[in-house]
Amino acid sequence: MTDPLKPYYNTIAQMKEKGLYTPVRVLESPQGPWFTVDGKKLLNFCSNNYLGFAQDKRLVAAVVKSVKKYGVGAGAVRPISGNLKLHMEAEKALAKFKGAEAAFLLPGGFIANIVAIATIVGKEDIVISDELNHASIIDAIKLAQVKNKFIYKHKDMAELEMKLKEAVKIAETLRQSSGRVPIILVVSDGVFSMDGDIAPLPQIVKLAKQYGAITIVDDAHGEGVLGEGRGIAHHFKLQGQLDIEVGTLSKAFGVLGGVITGKKELIEYYRQKGRPYLFSTGLSVADAAAVLEGVKILSRSSTLVKKLWDNAHYLRSEFKKLGFDTGRTETPITPVMLGDENLAKTFSAKLFARGVFATPIKFPMVAMGKARIRVMPTATHSKKDLDFGIAAFAKVGKELGVWQ
Ligand SMILES: *Cc1c(COP(=O)(O)O)cnc(C)c1O
Repeated sequence: MTDPLKPYYNTIAQMKEKGLYTPVRVLESPQGPWFTVDGKKLLNFCSNNYLGFAQDKRLVAAVVKSVKKYGVGAGAVRPISGNLKLHMEAEKALAKFKGAEAAFLLPGGFIANIVAIATIVGKEDIVISDELNHASIIDAIKLAQVKNKFIYKHKDMAELEMKLKEAVKIAETLRQSSGRVPIILVVSDGVFSMDGDIAPLPQIVKLAKQYGAITIVDDAHGEGVLGEGRGIAHHFKLQGQLDIEVGTLSKAFGVLGGVITGKKELIEYYRQKGRPYLFSTGLSVADAAAVLEGVKILSRSSTLVKKLWDNAHYLRSEFKKLGFDTGRTETPITPVMLGDENLAKTFSAKLFARGVFATPIKFPMVAMGKARIRVMPTATHSKKDLDFGIAAFAKVGKELGVWQ
């Protein structure tokens, strides 16, 4: 009998041919500015560990202390085996830090988007989403089985307004047929993870309010980076104006977890109805303890955030001087646009040979033909580290004739 799954195995071979296959390296050291792969020391140019929290000694100490007190695990889903005191402390600290009424911790940013979106919209609601939103937003909308789904061109506010007008008409028809007022939800990444540009949030919020829609923003790459580390709401001085903010502990906070912030009543509703919360175990002790310490550090000082931005500006200007196209970034996310998938793959392999670890980003993470190497500077890189990386990019760029 032939194996019904065989077509999938064949797909692997085809992906390898097209340069779309992703091999994953194994690290033998912490996620620092440098790390070790196969005994070889490499410059780390691809983590989301913006502030170095993944290996920060203060976070490590806080985690060790909490683990000794609480053990390692939450035991079960929180509604069954209880909230750890640590969960509550971390939620309170995060809410205060982000300038929101309440915060809700979940086992990942991906899950946080599913809870934030699929718990409050369903078949008879309307969602309007930026075309470059993160996969977890796209999947959350799919899971919600929303029938009326609009995608607007990236950051195109005229098109967003058009879709809002359409949505209002559909909402009125739905209201007349069912008597229920449907929700119109506008959802956007705050910082777009593959390009590093920032959503025009003040305009989005204004338009949403004008048409009676609610707004969700995903601040995964804003926390620890924008608004002196407090995120995109602070960056735009929009605290309290976003209905829902989704965040992650897995980028600048250096661990694993997701968070939703918003009005007390809404968070209360999520706690009662969010299926991935009701059916998935609570955040581990280490993650909760780490974020609590991370918030403490960032509340006291923005030195690390400033160092991150200094590094980002330096890196971007050096790349530009060399002639690389860094796309439309406005944040530390520094894409080096290459286009062809195989070129990106070869570029990355050559960097690796020169001691720089920077993975190619290609389809399905970005559109076909828009492959790139996304360089991620962190606060823990020294200028010497950056210069080492920049020199490698210059040599490889020349070898491969990236700019003519
Ligand atoms: C990384 C990311 C997520 C997922 O967060 P995890 O905590 O890693 O699951 C969600 N949204 C955006 C925009 C992201 O960049």
